[in-house]
Order: sequence, then structure tokens, then C-alpha cells
Amino acid sequence: MDPGAFFMPTSDEIPEDVGFIGTRRDVSMLARTYIQSANVGAQEAVFKQNEDVIRGYTRLETLDNRTCPQCAFADGLYYTKDEKRPALPIHPCCRGLYIPKTVSFRELGLDIDELEDVARPWTLREDGPIGEGGKPIIGVGRINGTFEDWWNSLSDEDKARTGIGATRSALLQEGKLQWRDMVDKRTGRLIPLEELGFETKYGWPWKKFSTSRNTAIIMGPPQDVIDIVNTGKSILKGLPSPADDPRAFHDTLMQRLAEEVGLSKGAKLGSTGLGADMVFLASQRFPAAWVKRSDEFGPLYVEFSRERSYYLTGYIMGSERWMSVDSDLSTSVHEFSHRLDEVCPSLQRQFQRFHEYRCDGKSLESLLAAVSTVEDYKPTEMFRDGGYIDPYFGKQEGKKATELMPMAFQSILGYNEHSKSEKTNTGALLIELFTGDNELFSFTLGSLFKKWSM
Ligand SMILES: [Zn+2]
Ligand SMILES: [Zn+2]
Repeated sequence: MDPGAFFMPTSDEIPEDVGFIGTRRDVSMLARTYIQSANVGAQEAVFKQNEDVIRGYTRLETLDNRTCPQCAFADGLYYTKDEKRPALPIHPCCRGLYIPKTVSFRELGLDIDELEDVARPWTLREDGPIGEGGKPIIGVGRINGTFEDWWNSLSDEDKARTGIGATRSALLQEGKLQWRDMVDKRTGRLIPLEELGFETKYGWPWKKFSTSRNTAIIMGPPQDVIDIVNTGKSILKGLPSPADDPRAFHDTLMQRLAEEVGLSKGAKLGSTGLGADMVFLASQRFPAAWVKRSDEFGPLYVEFSRERSYYLTGYIMGSERWMSVDSDLSTSVHEFSHRLDEVCPSLQRQFQRFHEYRCDGKSLESLLAAVSTVEDYKPTEMFRDGGYIDPYFGKQEGKKATELMPMAFQSILGYNEHSKSEKTNTGALLIELFTGDNELFSFTLGSLFKKWSM
């Protein structure tokens, strides 16, 4: 029997209909975290009862490329019995454990040699979000050592697949930082590079920053990201400034897209009504080739709701999808971007690459804790800080940034002077992204003009 079934159903056993729609992934994450908490809790109880034969504890993390930097750098940390240890799991879906170091057989009066350390298995999987299934395995092996030993044994290409991040990797390889510098042993917190004496900035490409203590090369975006940003910058030069005249910017952008890329005449939808009308209008703002992918993918049903908007992905069998929108056109642009995220994988991957570069070496954090003024976030909602204008841009489900592309397209394509919503009819979202994050603005604009192999 699956030990997890004791505590709560695992995600496979969660019924499709859990009362309200769009929460299956949340439930899956909760189930995994809950099971881990229960397991760790039971283990701690056993440790407590056997304290007399325990000397201390070693933090044990999984040797694979799903482990986050916060946990990877903590692997192998040793705590004496009385030392304060961070409680595990340290974040949702954390797989960390403590293994006790016991007194030797001879100290117990038994004339037996100690068992040899057992080699630990490691796994490398293909990049990308894990989902509920798992990515194909591309390498396995065993190593007698810690995460650091394993990481050091990997090729540069495989090192880059792990969660360590390009900047921290470079600093390790140059000997400017040690593995053990990265995490606060007592709290388990990943120490930001700034606190370690490095000045960091989202700059590009390959900018060098120096401080009195050290110099860090802050990794710039990869070349494919730079190319799209540059495309966007040159397009932007030929458009009216969004900050001065959002309406003129929008009209000219639509005109250029129509001429140079070809805009959609409207997505094929499986339902009629106000919601479908909104999505039909929103889809006309996207390149025809992208919307064609949506039409080919399968039926898309739209419902209208003033309460909440969503696009339901992934876990539903077959190709039928549901989405819900309100009467603000920019919401429909946002939700339709979720649709494109599912049906245009090369576009989706490109935004993931942008996000990876921006979040280089950062850990997952709780949205609820970061945005204390908004109480709408669930405790399971996580993000990585990519220096975006709002942490929500960096929201992740597993390894995937799910809101970056929708938030970016909503900002750039969502303007509508007739909207009842003030953020839409004043161009507030457009202006905020333009003035607050020119790089993401240019990247998103560039992506609209890029010839994608779909
Ligand atoms: Zn972790
Ligand atoms: Zn969204």
C-alpha cells in the first residue's frame, strides 16, 4: 500500500470534481506537501524517543534537477542533537529529510564494524515543468557524497540543468563563493547574493558590478532572449510612446502587426454569449498563426462571470477546454494568453527562458507573504522574484512560470479606450510595464513579430 494513502489521497486519487474548478493542481501540491509533513512529523517523533542513541542529524535532499537551490545548498548540513535545525518541509513540495547519526555499535558495547555509507542515487530529467506525471529521465547513477559532490561531478551542460542558477554556478566555479556560504544553517534560508557582498542588478548583457568586497559577473540573458529583446526595441522606436499616448501606441501597433505578421480574424469558439464575444475580440489582437494553433487544438468554451476568470488546462482528458472571462477586454487578452501558452509550446518555452534568466539562483517564495496587502492569494501560491513590476508576474506552478506570458500580453495588448475598467481604458497596465520593465516590454513586443516555428 502506498504509505501516502494513509494520510490523504495523492493527486492521482483526487477526483476531477473537487467542488470548485481550477484547483486540481493546488490540491495536488497540498497533498504532496501534507504527506511530506506527516512523514517528517512521524520521523521526528521516532527520533525523540531514541534521543539517547542519536548524536546528530544530517540534512538529506534528493539528488536531481528538481531540487531548488535553497535545498540543494543545504544538503549534507550536519546538526548536533541540541543544535537548532530548520523545520522540514521548508516549502511546498519540499522533499528534504533529516537522517539521524547514531552512536557507534562499539559505544553500545557491540563488537561490530560500522556500516559503510551507502551510495546515493541521482537522476537527471529533461528540462521543463514536471506536471503531475514527470519528465523523461536522461541520466541516472550513484554517488557516495553530497549534492555538492554530485554537482561537481556533472558536465557543464548537466550542471546548468540543476536548480543552482547561472550566476551562483559561475561564482562557485570561480571560487568566489563556497557551497556552504549560500544557506543560513540555522534557518535554512537561501542567502541573497546582495547579503553575500555582491551587487546584483538585472542588466544585460554580461555587465560587471563591483563592490568593496567582491565582484560578481551578473549573467545576462541568453542570446535567443537578447535577439527578441532587440527586435522589440527596434519595433518600439517606430511606435508612438506608450507613456505619452497609449491609444496611438495601440492603434499603430495593431496596424503594424496586421501588415507585417498578420492578425487573427478571431478564434474559433465552442460557445456563444458575452464571454465568447469578449474572447473573440481579444483573439483578434494576436498573430493569426498563433490563433490558428488554438483553433486546431480543440474546442474552446467560454463562460461569462463577474466573479472570476480562468483558463482550465492540462489535467482534463482530451482537448476540450473551458475558460471564463469578465467584461473587461484586457481580462480576455490575459485568459486567451493562457490558451496560447498551452497550444504554442515554442512561444511558451521562450517566456520560460526569459523567466529563468531573470530568476537566476532565486528560490520559490510565498506570494501571500510577499504581497501582504492582497489577501486573495492561497498559501500554496508561490513565485520567484525576477525583478518584475509585480511579484505575480513571477508566479510559478512547479518549475513553470504560468503568469508571465499572460501578464505581459495583457499589459501590451489589453488597451481599450471603451472599457469600463480604469486600468484598461487609461492604458495604466501598458504604461506601468513600459516604464517599469523595459526589457520585458521589449521582449514581449519582439515575440509578437518573431517568426515562430509552431
Ligand atoms: Zn526546496
Ligand atoms: Zn492568469
